[in-house]
Amino acid sequence: MSTFADVIVPLPLQDSYTYSIPSSMELSVRKGCRVVVPFGKNKSYVGIVRDVHKKQPQGYQVKPIVRCLDEQPVVTPVQLTFWQWIASYYVCPLGDVMNAALPAGLKDDKFRPKTETRVCLAGDFDINKKDIVLNFLKNSKKQQIVFETYLEMAGYGRFEQPRPVSKQELLQVCGASTTIFNGLVSKKLLTTYEHEVGRILLTPVSLRDVHPLNEAQQAAYEEINCLFLTHDVTLLHGVTSSGKTEIYIHLIRKAIAEGKQVLYLLPEIALTTQITERLRSVFGDEMGVYHSKFSDAERVEVYQKQLSDHPFNLILGVRSSVFLPFHRLGLVIVDEEHEVSYKQQEPAPRYHARNAAIMLAHQAHAKTLLGTATPSLESYHLAKTGKYGYVSLTIRYRDMQLPEVEVVDIKRLRFQKRMKGVFSPVLHDLIGEALAHHEQVILFLNRRGYANFLSCKTCGWVPRCPHCDVSLTYHKKSGRLVCHYCGTSFEVPDKCPQCDESTFTDVGIGTEKVEAQLHRDFPNATTIRMDIDTAHTRTAYEQIITDFSQHRYDILVGTQMVTKGLDFDNVSVVGVLDADTMLNIPDFRSHERTYQVLAQVAGRAGRKHNKGRVVVQTRSADADIISFVVTNDYASMFRTQMEERKAFHYPPYYRLINIYLRHHDAARVELLANDMASMMRHTFGERLLGPDRPAVSRVHSMYIRKLMLKIEKTASVDKVRNILFDIQSRLIQQPSANGLQVYYDVDPM
Ligand code: ADP
Ligand code: ZN
Ligand code: ZN
Repeated sequence: MSTFADVIVPLPLQDSYTYSIPSSMELSVRKGCRVVVPFGKNKSYVGIVRDVHKKQPQGYQVKPIVRCLDEQPVVTPVQLTFWQWIASYYVCPLGDVMNAALPAGLKDDKFRPKTETRVCLAGDFDINKKDIVLNFLKNSKKQQIVFETYLEMAGYGRFEQPRPVSKQELLQVCGASTTIFNGLVSKKLLTTYEHEVGRILLTPVSLRDVHPLNEAQQAAYEEINCLFLTHDVTLLHGVTSSGKTEIYIHLIRKAIAEGKQVLYLLPEIALTTQITERLRSVFGDEMGVYHSKFSDAERVEVYQKQLSDHPFNLILGVRSSVFLPFHRLGLVIVDEEHEVSYKQQEPAPRYHARNAAIMLAHQAHAKTLLGTATPSLESYHLAKTGKYGYVSLTIRYRDMQLPEVEVVDIKRLRFQKRMKGVFSPVLHDLIGEALAHHEQVILFLNRRGYANFLSCKTCGWVPRCPHCDVSLTYHKKSGRLVCHYCGTSFEVPDKCPQCDESTFTDVGIGTEKVEAQLHRDFPNATTIRMDIDTAHTRTAYEQIITDFSQHRYDILVGTQMVTKGLDFDNVSVVGVLDADTMLNIPDFRSHERTYQVLAQVAGRAGRKHNKGRVVVQTRSADADIISFVVTNDYASMFRTQMEERKAFHYPPYYRLINIYLRHHDAARVELLANDMASMMRHTFGERLLGPDRPAVSRVHSMYIRKLMLKIEKTASVDKVRNILFDIQSRLIQQPSANGLQVYYDVDPM
């Protein structure tokens, strides 16, 4: 009887396809191995074997597997179970999960371990006959030098065994060329070999012992361990600077001592040299770092090390590190668990790394600790209802006080003509005072560029992106109009195309404009701006952080980037220039977000100082959410928000699934969206809303329609997925659906 393999391939709508295993491969093809399989007339894919069985598929000719790429599986059974959960919960094919889970170098067979070319002697050699050889080379002084230098570097005559010598290093030391070296090779004196070297560079560090915890931290540490006895997940709700990271370090040390592995997740932007070095100094080379900005080869290497018998005990990583293999995972830490960036937006699987990590830990019988100063409503809800353990830490390390938050009504000040440009008088004064005391200032504004948009002074015409349904943002430095959706930039038109007049006025403020005003008002202060225009690379971002923390600049102006868990010692004033940009986003989470961002940015003030000052400028000075920030009243924010969530069937009470349809043709996408909606209403009834145009209904010249499902938490995840896939496959059978893209966003953020 022949054997078959179900193979995951990167294709839509179906999770795996069945192939026969040629008898020559029967021993090698196993669950988790990579295989090359044929597809269609002349295509082939690299896929992962999901299952091996003897069930002959019916109704079609089964094709054989072409090749097996692995002797040992590269995906463990635990990982396959985890992939399956992601695919079911996030409504995507397993092939998409495979694509996200494996570094590119593992998806084809191109990955080669990094090697170094090394030099050795071509034959037997007696060091006492060195002069004879050198004499033999007397006609080529350079060859003589290379040969002699090689002997020296290898330590002939000094060591029992010659030391390895890299060819590159040898040539560098002698200042010689490859041609000269090749001369020695053809004279049968030297030869080369390839030696595999790791890309993971481990710089030796002297390890320090962990800091002892203070009383409050120690109590929290013990409480967490205690709660882990009865709960899979515990939420550590600790104010900014309370020392959560120190508690993590103690928990990690304990887990490793018990022979377990730890996964420590951070939002991408928070995974900086600061935190890497802090952990490296305690865990040394027991720790591996997994970052999406690393080269693919480096990621393959970390992945393979985790598969090996000597994996890292601690992985410090971003979102995608939930896909690494672990043999004995015992603890998962999700720091800044409320962070929106844990949600993958594009492409599928659109998973939430916190939720995925909790599932991963659950499947591995490990514990999860969520840490934050501003919990997501979801996590806090689960903690308050007893599903998660809950530990709170309300005092800052060394009893530093939380800053004083002051709200400024800029609507009234504008009306009274008392604003000083973008600053209220109080913020303007505080900046001046801080500078006079040699203290630093952080200014936060959630919009980059110079102005929100340009507008014709005569007729009010506003330049918009021709590919997307949005107005363009004016960037003064480059003198261009930029689409913040597709990134295309345009010249500012000479004349208004609508009325032929040529003067534009800029509306709204962006970080560039704030910076420009600082230069005018505080000419002696040094200012640095941090947004994706100035900090587009990791190095640029880290450089700004380093420079600011070493007080090379007095004022840091930036977008959300400045709110992310940074540890500065000398910041006495934090200004939020326009809280309304976040508050007015049409999203059911906008109030929760505003609270989190304001509380986080306020937490940057007065770290190792006396009391910091925070000024929040807003046009909605009496909004509840703002007063909760002032009184640091998370509980009331939670209560009021949860009432709304319940009333309008939003998370955490319901599971939301957004369904997007994209097409080049506006009329067609409209029709197809209506078709899909009516098919779905059949099953889901009132749970389905739409179709609607999303806030931005055209991006990259694709027209978009959106449907929304609000599903009871108790509904079966698999059933929902099957229904959706079934409807989708019926929809795309229609000829008019040619070119239609359908995708799902579960628990959208
Ligand atoms: P959080 O993660 O809660 O924002 P951190 O762990 O980063 O707080 O702590 C804030 C600062 O206080 C850091 O500079 C940290 O080194 C210091 N700190 C906190 N706890 C201790 C401790 N037990 N011993 C020494 N330093 C500590
Ligand atoms: Zn005009
Ligand atoms: Zn655009």
